[in-house]
Amino acid sequence: MYSLSNVVRQHVEKGYVYRIDRELDPELEPTKYIMKSDNAGTTLLFKVRGSTLECVSGVINTREKLYEVLRVSRDEDAYSKVINSLNSRSRQSLREASFRENYRELSSSALSLPAIKFYSVDGGRYITSSIVIAKTPDLDSYNASIHRLMYLDNQRFAIRLVPRHLYSIYETNRKAGRDTEVAVVIGAHPIVELAASISPPYGVFELEMVGNLGGEPLEVVRTPKYGIPVPARASVVMEGRITRELVREGPFVDILGLPDRVRDQPVLVVDSVYVPREDPEYFHVILPGGNEHMLLMGFPREAAIWDSVRRAVPKVKKVRLTKGGGMWLHAVISIKKVAEGDGKTAIMAAFAAHPSLKHVVVVDDDVDPDKPEEVEWAIATRLQAGKGLVIIHHARGSTLDPSSEDGLTDKVGIDATAPLNRREEFIRPIVE
Ligand code: MN
Repeated sequence: MYSLSNVVRQHVEKGYVYRIDRELDPELEPTKYIMKSDNAGTTLLFKVRGSTLECVSGVINTREKLYEVLRVSRDEDAYSKVINSLNSRSRQSLREASFRENYRELSSSALSLPAIKFYSVDGGRYITSSIVIAKTPDLDSYNASIHRLMYLDNQRFAIRLVPRHLYSIYETNRKAGRDTEVAVVIGAHPIVELAASISPPYGVFELEMVGNLGGEPLEVVRTPKYGIPVPARASVVMEGRITRELVREGPFVDILGLPDRVRDQPVLVVDSVYVPREDPEYFHVILPGGNEHMLLMGFPREAAIWDSVRRAVPKVKKVRLTKGGGMWLHAVISIKKVAEGDGKTAIMAAFAAHPSLKHVVVVDDDVDPDKPEEVEWAIATRLQAGKGLVIIHHARGSTLDPSSEDGLTDKVGIDATAPLNRREEFIRPIVE
């Protein structure tokens, strides 16, 4: 059963959980506690003033916790799950259950959601784990993706639509004079959130990837008003419409720890609110720029880089999108080099797999990408810039990078692998 409270229960048994007994101020106070639990790898439970819902943060704030929910222990197995779930044969049809047996309706004014202002520069209080599901107007399918919601009042949010699938659905509807009917799901199982963070091609319903990632079919129920499939277990389900009304959204401190700029974004109007009929589920709070945010966004891209590089060079040992680059802009890849030039091939394969990638370092398999000082050592002793640097001028990158020109950026690949014919000169002595 894909339920966040099951994961929290397992974390309690393993001693991962730290609970704050007093109510926190939704303005800024949760941030420092979530940062602390990020550093310690703990799962944090808390409540904020004004909401009865219990919040959880740090559900997958370490790679170990992510691998536990995926039921894998090795990188290759985790990456294979993501790559295989993109394959149509491994997609699982959803098991349908009754909405009314799982959820009950609340009058929308009766529920106050624990929206949080995370940083002093943020333009408002935000919900950060909201999965938005909409029907694709041109295909018989749905789309699920995570979007931040800025609280306006109990029935209205500003929704940030990056120009991807939900944005194009919204644009198609807007040009036809229609609002976009959506279901918003908060507090879903981390695998459901991970599936919503993977970018399969348009027309693939992300929830159909959950079964392959988690090992059992996902149970869904259809919302009463719009008939949109949502997970049978979540903390809150809202039905609503993304309207053609725009409002100023932001600033919002994003994955690189920098404020994303203010933009005109659509208003999401809530029509109905539902909560579980039986036991309440946890309301998931994802700290922007925290480990959980980085893992949810970065991990599927790490899998894509791994898949691309392993097709291009004989053996890729480890791929890491590093924390210093927000698990988004920087990668370190270790390979077993068998031919001169493998490092450059790996660089090209990595850039092709993740268009936001800006800098990539390729090292030999005796260097651990998880250890920045080893990577630096490899650059210090194995790189000659005249030979090993690849610079790609003015390529498409990430708009989150403030040094880019609206996403146009220079990219650098660093081949810090040792030359094969003099390899013994580059090997550290083994200390027993
Ligand atoms: Mn999609």
